[in-house]
Amino acid sequence: MPHTVDPQHPSAPPSSPPSSGTRRSRRSRRAGRLRAALCASAVSVGLLAASAPSPAEPLGLGDRLYPHLGNPGYDVRAYDLSFTYGGDNTKPLTAVTRIDARVTENLERFNLDFSHGTVRSVAVNGEPASFTTAGEDLVVTPETPLVRGTPLLVTVRHTSDPRKPAENRDGGWVRTTDGLAMANQADAAHLVFPCNDHPADKADFTFHVTAPEGYTAVANGLPAGVERTARTTTWSYRTAHPMATELAQVSIGRSKVLHREGPHGLPVRDVVPAADEKALEPWLARTPGQISWMESKVGPYPFETYGLLMAQAQTGFELETQTLSLFEKEVFTQPGYPAWYVESIMVHELSHQWFGDSVSPRSWSDLWLNEGHATWYEALYAEEKADRPLQARMKAAYGASDGWRASGGPPAAPKPPKAGQKIGIFRANVYDGAALVLYALRQEIGADAFQRVERQWVGTHRDGTATTADFVRLASEVAGRDLSGFLRPWLYGAKTPPMPGHPDWRPATDAG
Ligand SMILES: [Zn+2]
Repeated sequence: MPHTVDPQHPSAPPSSPPSSGTRRSRRSRRAGRLRAALCASAVSVGLLAASAPSPAEPLGLGDRLYPHLGNPGYDVRAYDLSFTYGGDNTKPLTAVTRIDARVTENLERFNLDFSHGTVRSVAVNGEPASFTTAGEDLVVTPETPLVRGTPLLVTVRHTSDPRKPAENRDGGWVRTTDGLAMANQADAAHLVFPCNDHPADKADFTFHVTAPEGYTAVANGLPAGVERTARTTTWSYRTAHPMATELAQVSIGRSKVLHREGPHGLPVRDVVPAADEKALEPWLARTPGQISWMESKVGPYPFETYGLLMAQAQTGFELETQTLSLFEKEVFTQPGYPAWYVESIMVHELSHQWFGDSVSPRSWSDLWLNEGHATWYEALYAEEKADRPLQARMKAAYGASDGWRASGGPPAAPKPPKAGQKIGIFRANVYDGAALVLYALRQEIGADAFQRVERQWVGTHRDGTATTADFVRLASEVAGRDLSGFLRPWLYGAKTPPMPGHPDWRPATDAG
């Protein structure tokens, strides 16, 4: 998520939102244009004129909530990102983004998502390419058209601006008191680097971050080398599993990196402000036990490492960046948050490593699969470890659910984000409102079958993407009966259906 903590109600269960297709048409139109161009010279001058290139336009993958995120025509296999930080987090970084992709349809030109930096040059398969911008897209025209099934290697030399792009919009970079961190969810990775900015196109990532003496840089995955010069150090990291652009993390700060061992020898690596190590240690020491607890519920931890990035920034949210979750340091150091609450937020972001990171949403309408599950394990942990009954939290959610559906849409068909509203699509309907769907499913099929669904879900779709329909299908398979009729109103209904086993539960009449 961004999972937001609520400073107004630190002792309350975070039940209120932690205040916590159409792609075909453009694809075929463009492919048709290419075919027309190819045969034009052999046919007539008239047809040649008709094939003149149309103006560059922003494209997308047809995501209902973010129509211009992602781009058709290619599939990214790997990103290699280089950032050079000068020591001032108000100034643009210099950057080189290398994209290793495969062409999936014949293309005269293609789009990348990128909108918050200056592009110096673009090369395609080693040759200089021309480029322009359209909306939040960088539109690239290579010297020669691209043929379906061939490799596409793109090198973009650019800057990456850490300042907010607009008053009402956060960038991907988060400026901390001692440097930078990243928070790209859901639609901000392309404010940092050119990419196919949609979780449907996961890829491997390599990072190279150059920073002046005194800084430490850390990114997703494990270290892949350090190079020192007289005045700078370049830190490299590489992911062992594919990752969505929204989950990329790069931390640059006056940090200390702490190491400990998790279950089965898992390397656990935390990044903390050097001065706060002692104060944070009691919290960080809990991570291995939390990982073991999650493994007991859903199976093996899915990645090569885990840890917390403690940022000195007031983001208003925590974020499950893959293998290295982003937290506001103050959540842990300011008095007022009860220990059980802080721990349940830690478990929320940890559980996203399975639900949201390893298994990514195919579209942003599937966000409830991320946040509903993370809220579920957050609440289950609080029940088992801190005596905060899950049923009480679900009963409260039931009372509020009709109101959440009215304001944010049903869990699996959320309303689009509104311009200028920072909460975006991260509303209560996909947090406790979606955990309530999982509770209803458990009530309907029983705890044993429910746990089998959960384990099979993260096992079957590991390192992939999945849809709401995939979840309904799996639940039906495990239960041995078609659950689509049961789950449809829970996922898509304007009103909350009756809760199995709790005929006395009623939606609040003044909900909203
Ligand atoms: Zn979350």
